[in-house]
Amino acid sequence: MVHSTIPDHIVVFGRPGSGKSSLAERLGTDFGYHLVRTGEMLREAIRRNDFLGKRVECHLAKGDLVPDGLIFELLEINLKSPGSNRLLFDGFPRTMGQVPLLEQFENRLHFKIDCYLEIDVSREEAVARMTGRRICPKCGATYHLIARPPKVAETCDLDGTHLEKRPDDTTEVVQFRQQVYDEHAVPILKYYQEKCPELCRKVNGNQPFDAVYTEARAAIGG
Ligand code: AMP
Repeated sequence: MVHSTIPDHIVVFGRPGSGKSSLAERLGTDFGYHLVRTGEMLREAIRRNDFLGKRVECHLAKGDLVPDGLIFELLEINLKSPGSNRLLFDGFPRTMGQVPLLEQFENRLHFKIDCYLEIDVSREEAVARMTGRRICPKCGATYHLIARPPKVAETCDLDGTHLEKRPDDTTEVVQFRQQVYDEHAVPILKYYQEKCPELCRKVNGNQPFDAVYTEARAAIGG
């Protein structure tokens, strides 16, 4: 089905534990967005143990942000001109320093973000959810033991791989990542609110995943 009124290119914002990645995956499946997930690209580089992976591993383990220059390198390698594809950015931009990087990619690769979608979740709720989170170490699909369980316990629906807890989901790191989000994402959201309020959407993330998804779908006109 062709959805002509939905945005062409979206950025999704949400604190760790907001359900951002699950929402991104579902929007990707239902509306044909190609997902640009910097977190997953970084984890992939670490799994490959390549030059970039070696440099970013310690940042992810601590829950700290990877320096903007390395994110730029990562996207230089991975981001291709979308052509007629729709892009959905999950996890980028993550700092004010990355905002002009996105603008640079928009100009160079000829696309324009026409929706900034925020999943608004309280910090307490997000922290509680992160403890039940699981990830497929092979394909990167995300699950939650309660909110979004796999069909077979601890097993990826897509490729049957045994699911794992993310190494950056320990209590200390979880709290630190919330702090990092408050520090960096809040100014970015404020920036877009002032620059292009007509492109900004916010959904209530303090509800079960299906309700968040329904609200997000309505917010983008899908
Ligand atoms: P995520 O999967 O989006 O939760 O990202 C996991 C981790 O990857 C984050 O805690 C950061 O360490 C790193 N990361 C992902 N995206 C970015 C980004 N755009 N800038 C800096 N660090 C990032």
